[in-house]
Amino acid sequence: MASSWVARRMEVNGIVQGVGFRPFVYQLANQYRLNGEVANTSSGVVIHIEGPQNNIESFSADLARKSPPLARITQISLHHERVKDFKNFSITASGDSASMSTLIPPDVSICDPCRQELFDPKDRRFGYPFINCTNCGPRYTIIDDIPYDRPKTSMKHFKMCSLCQAEYDDPGNRRFHAQPNACKDCGPQVSLFDRDRNKVNTSTPIERTATLLKQGCIIAIKGLGGFHLAVDAGNTDAVAALRERKHREEKPMAVMSFDMEHIRKYAVVGPAEEELLTSFQRPIVLLEKIEPCPISEEVSPRNRYFGTMLPYTPLHYLILSHGFTALVMTSGNLSEEPIAIDNDDAFQRLSGIADYFLIHNRDIYLRSDDSIVRETAGTTRFFRRSRGYVPVPVFLKKTVPPILACGAELKNTVCLTKKNQAFLSQHIGDLENLSAYEFFISTIDHMKQLLDISPEIVAYDLHPDYLSTRYAEELKDIKKIQVQHHHAHIVSCMAENLIDGPVIGLSFDGTGYGADGNIWGGEILVADHKTFRRAAHLSYTPMPGGAAAVKEPWRMAVSYLYDAFGDAFMDLDLPILKGIDEKRIKIMVEMIQKKVNAPDTSSLGRLFDGIAAIIGIRNRVSFEGQAAMELEMLAEKTIAATYDFDWVSGDVHRVLFQPIIHGVANDVQKGVEPSEISGKFHSTLVRMFSELCGIIGKETGLNRVVLSGGAFQNSFLLTGLIQTLTRNNFQIFTHTLVPPNDGGIALGQAMVAAANAEN
Ligand code: ZN
Ligand code: ZN
Ligand code: FE
Repeated sequence: MASSWVARRMEVNGIVQGVGFRPFVYQLANQYRLNGEVANTSSGVVIHIEGPQNNIESFSADLARKSPPLARITQISLHHERVKDFKNFSITASGDSASMSTLIPPDVSICDPCRQELFDPKDRRFGYPFINCTNCGPRYTIIDDIPYDRPKTSMKHFKMCSLCQAEYDDPGNRRFHAQPNACKDCGPQVSLFDRDRNKVNTSTPIERTATLLKQGCIIAIKGLGGFHLAVDAGNTDAVAALRERKHREEKPMAVMSFDMEHIRKYAVVGPAEEELLTSFQRPIVLLEKIEPCPISEEVSPRNRYFGTMLPYTPLHYLILSHGFTALVMTSGNLSEEPIAIDNDDAFQRLSGIADYFLIHNRDIYLRSDDSIVRETAGTTRFFRRSRGYVPVPVFLKKTVPPILACGAELKNTVCLTKKNQAFLSQHIGDLENLSAYEFFISTIDHMKQLLDISPEIVAYDLHPDYLSTRYAEELKDIKKIQVQHHHAHIVSCMAENLIDGPVIGLSFDGTGYGADGNIWGGEILVADHKTFRRAAHLSYTPMPGGAAAVKEPWRMAVSYLYDAFGDAFMDLDLPILKGIDEKRIKIMVEMIQKKVNAPDTSSLGRLFDGIAAIIGIRNRVSFEGQAAMELEMLAEKTIAATYDFDWVSGDVHRVLFQPIIHGVANDVQKGVEPSEISGKFHSTLVRMFSELCGIIGKETGLNRVVLSGGAFQNSFLLTGLIQTLTRNNFQIFTHTLVPPNDGGIALGQAMVAAANAEN
């Protein structure tokens, strides 16, 4: 050792465990000929490093800059240390209670070096469907306790062979401490079964699966976060059979292709989309269709987009290497139930759908659906944030108490907070469904355990009948804070943008329980984290039949038409009035007049439904938001013309529908193309809400506008409002880390609770 040597102690926090961070540090130290040690401790990864000062500086610079792809460093602190005369650099074994404060990594798609080995006939893992390394493979879905170590994962049942063990123990190997490390001889195996659970006698189950898919069979395939149902996307009969058996009438189904070249045969891929597709999270990316295309129309009917992903497990790659343009890979469930993760459960629930089952014996501990994103207005937008992204936290502006937020009812996710981090769960689903509710409870328990959080506060929706509300109210010894749905939406967006408020918040969606007990959904709020006031909203309109009006948009059409034209609406020359039995229409009118089973709503989602029905797009929907989605798909985006619009000014401005409904009905009667009407309708909303923001901005002096709620999945509305409001000198904040829909609402609930817990 030279006398000029110096020593430093570095503490690294963030996602630095299970992501190859210590081997990276080891290699970096060797590269700069530095001595010392690295260990996982309760305060993160701690490095003791000693050597020439210049080398230490280079080491420090590279530490942050070149860290492994999955690592996410939130903080590095550097301290001077005494030189301890280490003879080399080593990795110190972690004690059991060691890494409690480090973050658990998400599941990661197979990396390039592993994929090369997978297809290399000379490699000992050639064709092995569970190949992985320190930089790739399952994480969150196979862990059931911390610290993240093999005995705490579902790999504990597999004893490594001597070759695998040697890799695992060698700090220079890219499989050093790769917890799921395995090979053909020691790791998990796949096998193929028929629907009666007879094992198919074959030594090549994956090739056999590919052959069956080519013959048009439906195969349940066990993946990373759950089962998929797969069929050949080019085979219309097979896709139609899958829809029928799964009771999924029209909702788009995701597809998976081997590589970009295959995807380009049926969809348009820009650079941003390619980056998303190839990212290690491997989400489903919405891509515009090419027409005509080799994929069956049945995959994504009446939709301009395909939801497409690249393979993310070695098993996917092996199946898709058999020459498919694309496979439908839709969630392994019946309609809105949670996806199956367990082999027994899959046989039980999916045997009415799948002809065969390709299963394996590595357990999935935590279900995780595929994430869904779209590139809109220059940024990634989440429709569903799940596999690949969870449990990476949203980093908050300041430290908050430990809070559990229970989310809403549909597209439920929950949120747990710890210091300045908010952990949003994976997609749980629609809580009207009992099995989803069980999953909701187990996810909360699991996350509390994995993240080592004991919540002091529970935040939940105002709706008295939500299962999540009942769950929260039954909890003992915990402070309870109820949060209004649309306030939570706005604060969710504020939290991810690190702003406090007050702001003007446009909170637009289908349904949320209002502070006055009505159903809200077209709200302009003036809000900060703590509180809000309603500055404007859409007029209340009756929903004849209540929940039935959500499933049958024609009922909303009748409601809006009656509001705009009175009894005279029956004389209009509209296809909707010819397509539906006059008696039923009259019943609706009676319900509206007598206010019987016709709750009031100010929902923008229902307005979309109503317009879609008046235009003649559809009278019934098979999934929530379908009519609104189809209205968007249809819209001619170049139309700047608008319908007349109006509102009643006051302390709370109230938007009137009559002029818009008059305009739309007149155009339909004149035979104007639906695409033009839809375009005009969208432009009307953009202009109207921009003008309202202008007025509220003047009244309040506020200049920041926050856009949240499921309606902002509509790219026309989102892009239009961003452009117009920016032009009018507003500062706009939108969602880029969590979904604008109810899948992101738990984050807002937690932040509202944090703000209100302070006093
Ligand atoms: Zn790898
Ligand atoms: Zn092995
Ligand atoms: Fe909502």
